[in-house]
Amino acid sequence: MRSDTGTLPTLEMRAAMKHAVVGDDGRVKINGKGEDPTVEQLEVQSAREFAMEDALFCSSGTMANIISILTTVKRGEFVALDKNSHINLSENSIFTSEFFGRKALYIETDSYGMPDISSLEKLLTCNDVKLLCLENSAAYYGGTCLSAAKIEEICRVAQEFNVPIHIDGARIFNASTFLKEPVAELVYHADSVMFCLSKGLGAPIGSVLCGSKKFIAEARKVRKALGGNMRQSGVVAAAGIVALNDKHHLRNDHNHAKFLVDMITHNPLIFIDKFSVQTNIVKVNVANAGILAHEVEKGLKSHGLLVKSLGPTSLRLVLHKEITKEQIKRAAIILNSYFEELDGQ
Ligand SMILES: *Cc1c(COP(=O)(O)O)cnc(C)c1O
Repeated sequence: MRSDTGTLPTLEMRAAMKHAVVGDDGRVKINGKGEDPTVEQLEVQSAREFAMEDALFCSSGTMANIISILTTVKRGEFVALDKNSHINLSENSIFTSEFFGRKALYIETDSYGMPDISSLEKLLTCNDVKLLCLENSAAYYGGTCLSAAKIEEICRVAQEFNVPIHIDGARIFNASTFLKEPVAELVYHADSVMFCLSKGLGAPIGSVLCGSKKFIAEARKVRKALGGNMRQSGVVAAAGIVALNDKHHLRNDHNHAKFLVDMITHNPLIFIDKFSVQTNIVKVNVANAGILAHEVEKGLKSHGLLVKSLGPTSLRLVLHKEITKEQIKRAAIILNSYFEELDGQ
């Protein structure tokens, strides 16, 4: 339960990979697309689903986010984002002088990662911000979701200041499933979005960056500059297409997250805010455990349960389509007995 990156390619994905028609995606055709027809198919299908003009297949979500920022923001210029966003916490090369040298400004959010509108207005009034990044669902907060209405409210403010918006939608299909709003509505007011094929969707490799034709043409140059052009990448894009065509299991993953919460017995050492359990992530507060989260992580590992610590006081347990109800019951038993024992010490 460390991550939804743990899924393995299905037989259908393997078959699609085996039969994929491929070409050199690093060579650009007259229409601006690479020469690999399967990658092109994935990009066209992605752009259509997000109602954006064009799309670019990237090797990872990190690369797609970095490409998006590099395409829009110059060295030394400001990007506004949440301090607890994946881009800030795990893609920090974008903000270091050794690498990309963009500057971060932090937006204020509530305890579910929802940006505060009036402080955003103030931040954009006082600074020359070149890009605003949002994350949906918000991984650090336990997979909480920004609704289309909330995103529109945020985007209206950004647009007043002519600030474009990039959405880190690594798990945007989870958000879409929870909110019952199509992804196209969730990105309607944004300029670009990145989504991961290799998280809950279950593909082995890859993410897609979507935006305007002009933006994607620039992004393609940045991808090349980063060494991100791949050759017969249709082999992996084929699995991505299968993943994109079959997302019905996400609802089940969300139900499983709730089931896990129900199976965890009350213990004074831990706290789960049920409101935050919206998608496939369960965030457990262990501030009262008397030991640090990474020590709890180690302890649970020795009992056979893999989880991930988020900072010193939280753990996250992530559900995905290969985790069964039986496994969830076992996980809860391990968790419950671990904390009962810890409480008894
Ligand atoms: C996983 C993740 C990414 C990066 O994706 P990789 O493919 O692992 O590089 C970006 N943002 C969020 C919110 C993520 O969860």
